[in-house]
Amino acid sequence: MTSALPSLAGHRITAVEPLEIRSRYPRPIGRNARLGAHGEGPAARAYMVRTDSGFTGWGMDEGPPGTPELLVGRPLEEVFNPGTGILDPLARPVDVALHDLAARILEVPVHAMIGGLGSTEVPCYSGAIYFDDLDPEDAPRGIEGVLAGCAADHAAGYRAFKLKIGRGNRWMETEEGFARDLAVVRAVRAAYPAARLLVDMNDGYDPARTLRFLDETADLDLYWIEEPFAEHAEGLRRVREHREAIRSQVLVADGEFDPDVEEVLALTREGLLDVLLMDVLSFGITAWRRCLPEVVAAGALASPHAWGHPLKSLYAAQLAAGLGGVEVVEGVPGTTDGVDTSAYRLQEGRILVPDLPGFGIAPPAV
Ligand SMILES: [Mg+2]
Repeated sequence: MTSALPSLAGHRITAVEPLEIRSRYPRPIGRNARLGAHGEGPAARAYMVRTDSGFTGWGMDEGPPGTPELLVGRPLEEVFNPGTGILDPLARPVDVALHDLAARILEVPVHAMIGGLGSTEVPCYSGAIYFDDLDPEDAPRGIEGVLAGCAADHAAGYRAFKLKIGRGNRWMETEEGFARDLAVVRAVRAAYPAARLLVDMNDGYDPARTLRFLDETADLDLYWIEEPFAEHAEGLRRVREHREAIRSQVLVADGEFDPDVEEVLALTREGLLDVLLMDVLSFGITAWRRCLPEVVAAGALASPHAWGHPLKSLYAAQLAAGLGGVEVVEGVPGTTDGVDTSAYRLQEGRILVPDLPGFGIAPPAV
């Protein structure tokens, strides 16, 4: 693949500039099993990279702070290979920006540059359905609050929903929280009989409760359970045995929170995890390009975690279209101040990835 792509020779990096961006959710996002209110949209860091040949690329970064400005003066081909990604650890904070830059120079979309193995119509789900039944605290809306979020996201084009569950972990008495979890899932299924439904415990269950949940929801055609408990082989073996016993088709997704990638890959090879969720940014595009073929070889799927920022869903959609092995990506409803993402469309539950150079997203006007 590398040899088929034109070279990046002749371009030298002349600037690496930090950018401040801000995401906006369409409504305040509430609590999950582990964390309090998620607010109305966080700020984030991005970088713009420029070359002496007049090209620019830009993209977000969420990893630990680095010093990508030390790349100024370096030939681009020394720090980035279109066939594999970044070549120098210094470039990690500009992993997205360099993918954008290189694809713009080569005049191809990122998804084509990284393989073009998937469809450019990428199914996605709304990842914004939190514990809206519990808010506002002085007059909780109950299940209607959750259904209102689903209705808003359905109107925006989503056709699948991921429901946060695990209310008994912090916010309700354990059994009462479990009962509410079940009532919410049942109510959303009743309101959307054809929707793909996923649930995310954010490590708020234990293996025994996970088995009970699978029993109680066996008739609801759930697509996956995510992070039921901090991943460990013994618990996941119990879940697998139970799924086999009750002939459950529900997938188990994990690897989002502070993953030990070698360990989650080992769990995947053992058939204990079906979908791996490492973050599109903090794990990174280059790392996903290396790792995703291993996931597919293990007979599993990937769905790069995108929560937090609408732009991350678009990066995840590009990864899905480029690398394959992704059945659905996490949609983060909302906008990014000053950033035009209109080349992407959300239509009937699919993100339509544009045929534009790079990520096809203009940088924020500054
Ligand atoms: Mg999650």
